[in-house]
Amino acid sequence: SPVMASEKEAALAATPSDSPTIFDKIISKEIPSTVVYEDDKVLAFRDITPQGPVHILLIPKVRDGLTGLSKAEERHIDVLGRLLYTAKLVAKQEGLDEGFRIVINDGPQGCQSVYHLHVHLIGGRQMNWPPG
Ligand code: AMP
Repeated sequence: SPVMASEKEAALAATPSDSPTIFDKIISKEIPSTVVYEDDKVLAFRDITPQGPVHILLIPKVRDGLTGLSKAEERHIDVLGRLLYTAKLVAKQEGLDEGFRIVINDGPQGCQSVYHLHVHLIGGRQMNWPPG
């Protein structure tokens, strides 16, 4: 794939769709990743382009139409809750006792580049507000 100048370019180049994503290959271990937490429903692994000392992505192992948060249906409520609760567990595991940031990018304007819902857990530095 072409080298992207920025995450924003990657997001704007991404086509919102239901096609398989790179995260399927991460779930199947076809593509290596640094897994920090795994259970039957959720996988958490280090982001390849970290935006802080700690940057972890939490994803549902089965996408089930959840390409992004804007596609959430009632049947996804349990997995959405599980993702956030797992983010808290992983934050603790990573020693982020002073705080952390949770981000879910959605769609082109939200800078989403991978259409398999994921929660960003970022920490280990002072965050700023508003985000970019
Ligand atoms: P988003 O821009 O919110 O869709 O987030 C997608 C994230 O996936 C970005 O932060 C990328 O750095 C990350 N990413 C893409 N490919 C990989 C990979 N092979 N391993 C780990 N993280 C990845």
